[in-house]
Amino acid sequence: MGHSFARGLGRGVIDTLRLTAEQAIDLLERREASGGELHNAYLTAIDERDPELHAFLTTVPEAGGDGVPIAFKDVISTRGVETTAGSKILAGYRPVYDATVAARCRDAGLPLLGKTNMDEFAMGSSTENSAYGPSRNPWDPERVPGGSSGGSAAAVAGGLAPWALGSDTGGSVKQPAALCGVVGLRPTYGTVSRFGIIAFASSLDQVGPITKTVRDSARLYRIIAGRDACDTTTVALPEPVELPASDDLRGVRVGVPKELNEAEGIEPGVSEAVARAIDLCRELGAEVGECGLPRSVEFGLPCYYLIAPSEASSNLARYDGVRYGLRAAATGIRDMYEQTRDEGFGDEPKRRIMLGAYALSAGYYEAFYGQAQKVRTMIRDEFAAALERFDVLLSPTSPTVAFPLGAKTENPLAMYLSDALAIPPNMAGLPSLSIPCGLSEGLPVGLQLIGPQFSENLLFRAGHALEQALAFDPVPARLA
Ligand code: GLN
Repeated sequence: MGHSFARGLGRGVIDTLRLTAEQAIDLLERREASGGELHNAYLTAIDERDPELHAFLTTVPEAGGDGVPIAFKDVISTRGVETTAGSKILAGYRPVYDATVAARCRDAGLPLLGKTNMDEFAMGSSTENSAYGPSRNPWDPERVPGGSSGGSAAAVAGGLAPWALGSDTGGSVKQPAALCGVVGLRPTYGTVSRFGIIAFASSLDQVGPITKTVRDSARLYRIIAGRDACDTTTVALPEPVELPASDDLRGVRVGVPKELNEAEGIEPGVSEAVARAIDLCRELGAEVGECGLPRSVEFGLPCYYLIAPSEASSNLARYDGVRYGLRAAATGIRDMYEQTRDEGFGDEPKRRIMLGAYALSAGYYEAFYGQAQKVRTMIRDEFAAALERFDVLLSPTSPTVAFPLGAKTENPLAMYLSDALAIPPNMAGLPSLSIPCGLSEGLPVGLQLIGPQFSENLLFRAGHALEQALAFDPVPARLA
């Protein structure tokens, strides 16, 4: 299975736009390409197309390891390699240690291609909040790749990396994967170490794979997941990660949450593509039924925009001009702190810090932060009830396809709504997978599959079966 893209690839020809990580592993195993050749093929693609896409902030010329190369979102600490989180306040910062996910990829022999562009501190849905300028969507460079892991998604969709890691707090792996026509997994909270990940909202942050196929996603998840002594919120996986092979959905109960599928703002072309995927589930042997998540959909986004900024305001307190990166030229420690933070942070982190500090302040704490925590428990319970009746829940990943650059930058609320469908399962700590399910107006549509905690194997199985049946071509039409 899944080898069709490699057909016609002769020795010496590495078509980075089509090659999956699994096919790259085959090339290496059959000695049809060396690690160096593979690495160089991607660096050449980066030279050719990254001036337009701006998916990368940094590239790494030296291949360390002879496996399939990988790109990391710039929120992942890499020893000796500049790590900025898309912020000026971390310009020039070179961590002295690797994040656990980076160390695990290195131990698995995956050389680092480079660090990818992102919204500053992972706050955003378009990559336009990067202090280093936006990335562009390989399907249409006048449009955003989504965010905040937009650089990683653009890199994979544009053939600049066979696979990549992103991070997902409130949709930042799933939504850019959807907008770029690739596969994104947001894992169960606690299955992937956050050690060495530049923190945004610690109770939500989770690193996840961005890949061309579901099987590649399972392979990469298998490398990064599992208990890490450096992150006490991690747990051992209850079962080993399986590479999905089944082409049907027999025995799978698929739930269609009404509110997640009929929310205001979902484009008709997106609804149609998702409805076709749901019909396909029936043809593949699934039992399909409707369910409701009324409160999770109504309160998910507002609840997220209290909890995430609250945690961010605390996590971002460490950028003081002393410990990392930028230090403003000022006399006196107070002026130095203030000017460093004023010059170093862009508008969105400042907005979040103010929102969070307000929600956490004495007198408002119970009304805002405390209340949001209660709502979060309610959301968790509502999902748990739906997932008693169904194995997997389906919805669009994003209400819209990729939008033009600049379309939402003046209106933070419109931007926040990009993640209205991706956020609710995250609040409940659940895993979810986005796979491309078709095109609307020539642009990719993402299908979100949500399962119970630790149900990644089931999401891979269902995602793979749908992927085979949908036969979506992940190569952007203009580059094919
Ligand atoms: N778009 C959401 C935000 O701006 C989610 C970001 C994320 O998942 N990192 O907070």
